[in-house]
Amino acid sequence: MGVALLDLISGPTRTADVTSGASVPGDSEFQFELSVCQWVERHWPPDGTLADDTATIVARQLGTKHRRWDTVVVECDRHALRARAAFGERELDSDLLHVVGNAPAEWAWYRDALPEPGYPWRYVREAVHRAADRGLVERRRRGNRVQLRRKRPYPDWVDRVVAIENKPDLDRSAARALVDQLERDVALGLADEVWVATAATGGTVEPALLEAVPVEAGILVVEPDDATVAWHPGALAVDDPGTRIRDRPAGGDHDASAARFEYADADWKRDKRLAIAERAYGRGWRSYADSMRPDCRHFTLRDTASGVLPYCEGKACHQTAGECRGSCGEFEPEPPAWRTRGWPIDGGPGAGIKRLLARQRRRQRPGLEE
Ligand code: SF4
Repeated sequence: MGVALLDLISGPTRTADVTSGASVPGDSEFQFELSVCQWVERHWPPDGTLADDTATIVARQLGTKHRRWDTVVVECDRHALRARAAFGERELDSDLLHVVGNAPAEWAWYRDALPEPGYPWRYVREAVHRAADRGLVERRRRGNRVQLRRKRPYPDWVDRVVAIENKPDLDRSAARALVDQLERDVALGLADEVWVATAATGGTVEPALLEAVPVEAGILVVEPDDATVAWHPGALAVDDPGTRIRDRPAGGDHDASAARFEYADADWKRDKRLAIAERAYGRGWRSYADSMRPDCRHFTLRDTASGVLPYCEGKACHQTAGECRGSCGEFEPEPPAWRTRGWPIDGGPGAGIKRLLARQRRRQRPGLEE
């Protein structure tokens, strides 16, 4: 892996002489994001090694209603992760987690068995039915009452949640825009660590840029097949209450408004972390194919130094997710003649690409059938 720690600490602020800038593995922030996800899946953590009993799940574009992280790394207990597989490859949303995580070992009326939800019980009853329909719990009726019983305990599989913000071109304006988001992440402390990943080039990161980013945020300089820690992150207090920064005035002569904060209690953070981990489990980072057009005749996957990335033969470039849609001017459906054997059930090469990516995702989740 060749990861090296740069000796950057110089008093309370940061200075650095690392190379970073505009040369991105792939040609866009989207492709850079995929490159970072692949690198993380193969090499995490950036410095040192994981314990033998720790595994990782990598996903992209996950977070809360107010904050979406580019890349999410869930560090898991390997044995508990295998036990999680017994609940299927699809994610469990927060309503299902409420049911599955609290289902009793013996038959009980759901209102007796489950904790007060904080929202109407009828939604809990619906979630009990959904959980039973998916085979996650057992259900029966006794008179008018719906009872449930667990099939197996839901495992405690999530150790740490790490957020990575991808900024391939960390110039002065990009760093400035990041600062506000990162300060909010640090104040809330929902992730155990927050990182910025940037691309390596021949340029030099200005010390002023690094000083602008909160010291708690780590900086990772990513090359096509390697990464270097430019700054180590601090551990955030995920078990403590956090502060949600709702509004922060720009200041100056024309803005004398007050900042607005909210309190985020530790229970909310614990539940939210588990919900994010579940989404990561269900989606991973290869689900990009679901929102692109692998059924276009120009869509292909190309093996690059940064890993396997989507490539458009028609435009001769690594396309973005935004342009690779049915509205793309150069979209051409794959010819029916390509869809041999099994068509239309199995589809052609586009469906094959989706199946390949789904199979690769399952491989990262021990205990699931391939
Ligand atoms: S032509 Fe358009 S839709 Fe087809 S692969 Fe390229 S970007 Fe995607």
